[in-house]
Amino acid sequence: MGRCVRSILAVAAGLLGGALPLFAADYNRPPDYRSFPGYTVIHAGTLLAVPGKAPASEQTVVVRDGRVVAVEDGWTEPPADGPSRVLDLKGYFVMPGFIDLHVHLLSQSGSSRKVDFVSHSDSYFALQGSQYARWTLEAGFTTARDLGARGEAIFALRDAVRDGLVAGPRILAAGEPITPSGGHGDIHGYRAEVLLALPASGTCDGPDDCRRAVRQMVKRGADVIKVTATGGVLSETATGTGQQFTQNELNAIAETAHALGRKVTAHAHAKEGIEAALRAGFDSIEHAMWADESTMELFLEKDAWMVPTVYPITAVGDTPEKMKAGPFGDLPPPVMAKLLELGRQPKDMVALAHRMGVKIALGTDSAVSPHGENANEFIEYVNAGMTPMEALMTGTVHAAEAGGIADLAGSLEPGKAADLVALAANPLQDIEAVLDVRLVMRDGIVFKRPEE
Ligand SMILES: [Zn+2]
Repeated sequence: MGRCVRSILAVAAGLLGGALPLFAADYNRPPDYRSFPGYTVIHAGTLLAVPGKAPASEQTVVVRDGRVVAVEDGWTEPPADGPSRVLDLKGYFVMPGFIDLHVHLLSQSGSSRKVDFVSHSDSYFALQGSQYARWTLEAGFTTARDLGARGEAIFALRDAVRDGLVAGPRILAAGEPITPSGGHGDIHGYRAEVLLALPASGTCDGPDDCRRAVRQMVKRGADVIKVTATGGVLSETATGTGQQFTQNELNAIAETAHALGRKVTAHAHAKEGIEAALRAGFDSIEHAMWADESTMELFLEKDAWMVPTVYPITAVGDTPEKMKAGPFGDLPPPVMAKLLELGRQPKDMVALAHRMGVKIALGTDSAVSPHGENANEFIEYVNAGMTPMEALMTGTVHAAEAGGIADLAGSLEPGKAADLVALAANPLQDIEAVLDVRLVMRDGIVFKRPEE
């Protein structure tokens, strides 16, 4: 900081100091959401510590400094070396917190979204996002990967959650989507003069320009790179859902993201676009709407993850009649045409993917469906043919692996984050139990607890 700036600040602080308590006694007050200073001992009626392995009854999870330190048989007493508390969850089914790999925390789809976008500030979107983050957390989701938000607000929200200032899931943020000009992730639906005033910093054309865009997004704080490889349903443009980035562009994007240590995931609907992204070496594909048998074989060959996002179709209406009568009934004609074309396709697609053994990780595209309804995606996967255990794995161990955080989340094992939920009933018997989340802990902090 220059001397001149420093002296101006000193004068300003001196002038204000008399009137405002700039350095009040609670200046070092810790944030509201912080881990318990000592041991937390959780007595679980049934514990599914590692989805995919059998659950066990009468188990204890010992937590310290936000991490699991032990999982023990029986209901054991807290260690004696330090303060402790006991969470009595003897009447509950306890399992790792859920992970949603595809959300948009700053917005909620609806008829006012187009106007909101040009009338609200980034600060407003950050505050709105903090509310949606809380709903997501209270639904049992202790990690959420945000795959597309304008401006800086999503990075601020991620950091504010990390620092204990607001209640939310751990956020992995992509920032703005990497998109071709005029593509799904670009801004459209406004007159030319308005578009000129709206920056879309992920927009790029040609391999070199796209390398720049990826690097720029990492520089701004992206944890993961989101790419719109094909058209999308809800973009207000009659460009269909076909491939939009070329193979060369996708190759450059994947190579650049990986060189910077980031996973890269593609929004892709059309078969050709999904396959081009898979050939480019993308780690995962979002939606994968029109994937067919040969596409599934390429998924298997490339060992890539699929994030199917089925629940929004149920929320929006999975028949033309329901869509027209539903919350998206007033969509402009080009968008409605794309929506009507989908119908049952996502449900049939995910059933095929599961039958063929494609690796599936849970994602909802929440913002299209309401925030906080994320757990319905588990139910969609059971309806598509998964066992309840397989469905629970998509939103825990598998999502952690696909999201690159398997050393931190997805299961309750020593060394991992103390992210867990307590359910009123056993989801292995009835998957709808995932909708009744009574306690949520993230990083050892209790954000929701059973009503007394
Ligand atoms: Zn999305």
